[in-house]
Amino acid sequence: MASADDIDALLPQTQCTRCGYTGCRPYADAIASGAAEINQCPPGGAATIAALATLLHRETRPLNPVNGTEGPPLVAQIDEDVCIGCVKCLPPCPVDAIVGARKLMHTVVTELCTGCELCVAPCPVDCISMVPRATLAAAPPAPEADFNRERFYAHNIRIARRAHEQAAVLAARKQAANTSQA
Ligand code: SF4
Ligand code: SF4
Ligand code: SF4
Repeated sequence: MASADDIDALLPQTQCTRCGYTGCRPYADAIASGAAEINQCPPGGAATIAALATLLHRETRPLNPVNGTEGPPLVAQIDEDVCIGCVKCLPPCPVDAIVGARKLMHTVVTELCTGCELCVAPCPVDCISMVPRATLAAAPPAPEADFNRERFYAHNIRIARRAHEQAAVLAARKQAANTSQA
């Protein structure tokens, strides 16, 4: 019987959440437990559905159109003349593919971008657009799934560590305030 690891290995790891799960691994877990069908991943499209069907000895089925359509690999582009440096696009990026600092212009590292589109909606000035990777001059190839997975896990570890550090600072401040009032 196929494991969630086996299933996850067949997913594209863009971490786009279009399957309705918070990333590729939760979707893999749901397939493994029988809670999800194999046709929920637009970035993987027909090829991923076929691979999952073979692995799990199931019938193939069309991509669920509710989750979106299959298309060419995309990459985010930032209009640097419009960017106001608000940093709102940084936290949603699952692979830390956007570089920039507060009040400074931001840019996308195209070698790292999975095309997940999660940075688009948070931008308050609509200066992020998704373009087919193939239309970029000298565009590097889309990053491999294993590479995306590693960067996503590193991103999550960094986020968790920062949250832990911030909680510790807040707790120390609270304790200091309580001590000074005693
Ligand atoms: S690539 Fe997106 S839709 Fe496909 S499994 Fe991963 S998170 Fe879900
Ligand atoms: S830059 Fe945007 S589209 Fe590219 S991986 Fe990050 S969030 Fe996704
Ligand atoms: S969210 Fe938009 S305006 Fe803000 S830093 Fe990112 S690209 Fe620039």
